[in-house]
Amino acid sequence: MKIAYFSMEIALEPAIPTYAGGLGILGGDTLHSAADMGLPMCAVTLIHRKGYFRQRLDESGWQSEEEDPWDIGKFAKELSPRVAVQIDGRDVHIRCWLYEIHGISGGMIPVYLLDTDLEENSEWDRSLTDRLYLGDRYLRLCQEVVLGQGGVRMLKALGHVELSRYHMNEGHAACLGIELLYEEMKALGREEIDEEILHNVRAKCVFTTHTPVPAGHDQFDMEMVRQVLGHHTAFLNRKDLFHSELCDSECLNMTSLALHLSHYVNGVAKRHAEVSRMMFAHFSIDAITNGVHPGTWVSPAFNSLFERFVSDWRKDSFNLRSVLSIPDDEIWRAHQLSKNNLLNFIMEKTGTQLSHDKLTLGFARRAAAYKRPGLLFENKERLGEIAKQAGGLQLVYAGKAHPGDNQGKMLIQNIIRLREELADHEITLVYLPDYDIRVGQLLTSGVDIWINTPQAPMEASGTSGMKAALNGVPSLSILDGWWIEGCIEGLTGWAIEGSAGDARALYDKLQNKIVPMYLGERGKFIEVMRHSIALNGAFFNTQRMLLQYLARAYFP
Ligand SMILES: *Cc1c(COP(=O)(O)O)cnc(C)c1O
Repeated sequence: MKIAYFSMEIALEPAIPTYAGGLGILGGDTLHSAADMGLPMCAVTLIHRKGYFRQRLDESGWQSEEEDPWDIGKFAKELSPRVAVQIDGRDVHIRCWLYEIHGISGGMIPVYLLDTDLEENSEWDRSLTDRLYLGDRYLRLCQEVVLGQGGVRMLKALGHVELSRYHMNEGHAACLGIELLYEEMKALGREEIDEEILHNVRAKCVFTTHTPVPAGHDQFDMEMVRQVLGHHTAFLNRKDLFHSELCDSECLNMTSLALHLSHYVNGVAKRHAEVSRMMFAHFSIDAITNGVHPGTWVSPAFNSLFERFVSDWRKDSFNLRSVLSIPDDEIWRAHQLSKNNLLNFIMEKTGTQLSHDKLTLGFARRAAAYKRPGLLFENKERLGEIAKQAGGLQLVYAGKAHPGDNQGKMLIQNIIRLREELADHEITLVYLPDYDIRVGQLLTSGVDIWINTPQAPMEASGTSGMKAALNGVPSLSILDGWWIEGCIEGLTGWAIEGSAGDARALYDKLQNKIVPMYLGERGKFIEVMRHSIALNGAFFNTQRMLLQYLARAYFP
């Protein structure tokens, strides 16, 4: 029994830029835990030869992008099988590269990186697997055909005949279902997709939906779909499988397709599953809350601490509960060392020397309006008062905007432009360029408080606060996504709540609870740090998450 995990992006390691953000990070963390647990799993994604992009920020704070090619041969091994898929009447040939994820006890998860850069293909087709999430709708649909149909064919060519589950991580992977439908039709000798065929395909498929934001659900207009997938008449005749109320005209909706072809569907946090049930009323949608891979996100200082105090914490994340018995000064020292690492990095990157003693808040996300990166600055006078009370305040920001998203770029610029004005209020603001795994590791472990201010209920789960929790960094966050489950007020962090407006609620918590505790009641503050790890780090990790997938989705 084997599980094939399909994802358009997977964050494999810091030097490989085959991811854009949370979805890819989750994919990587899931597979790292699967390797640790020795699960019978393999994964399929695209090679993204030129990565996502490197972010440059000019003097005025405006983002520009550079290609981010990586040295494939250094990290992955080319395999010999070749397959082809038909796209828009052409045969597109595909090869694959093997990247191995090795777990702590000898387990290994093979990740197959699909690549169309072959001489047999036209110039255009050769660049099909070059860039992640860039280019037009046509390119995107072609990429999804390569991932889904090409992926299923490649696994077969590689000799994976014992696969019994296909996990679509997001609708991008839904084309794998089309391939399984055709396999089944061939096996049963049918010309049409009937109920028996659907039943057999559903028995194999699991689907995780990732966002309540409508624009986050891929759809393609039918004219283009007929052009690209025109030879699949049996599939195109079954519009009921992919049509969705989300599109106003005729279209192929990938979420709808994935929903129809899966026997098990889940959202990525309890609240997100509730919202998804309202969006897709005809489907039963379970909840499995996301997690992060502790071995990836725990800072070197906390790593040493856990090695001393928590037995087998890498093997069994539940053991992190025994962090409850680590003495105050040990936790504080590990945190100060992590903070020191971040401050050194900031100095190196920006030339700004931050203070070890000042309260430091962190915020890093994709620059999108619903994440409200500017909420903290809604009332700068008030924020200035808080900074004064705290003896100075340090803010560390990071995050990329999608290259085509000028509004997102403006959000970044607006924050950077506040730097001087904030300096007059004893607030030092740093915007770190090029948010990636490495910056994420330093940031989530090195600040004192992790801030999250999404417009509820748009944050499906969020995972950066989980990374922070593992490093004893409590969150101050809107009650949305995972934080509804993770927040125990004053014990694992703080909620931004109340009818007075979110910004005011944010200032109130900072001013009345966090600053006084951080400055005047260090013991109490460390108590919150300790519970962040013992209660939230021990639970919001990909090991617990995978155990739930095994019990509820893969092999109930
Ligand atoms: C963790 C992480 C994300 C996702 O964080 P969210 O809280 O889910 O937004 C995105 N990018 C990088 C580099 C990360 O490390």
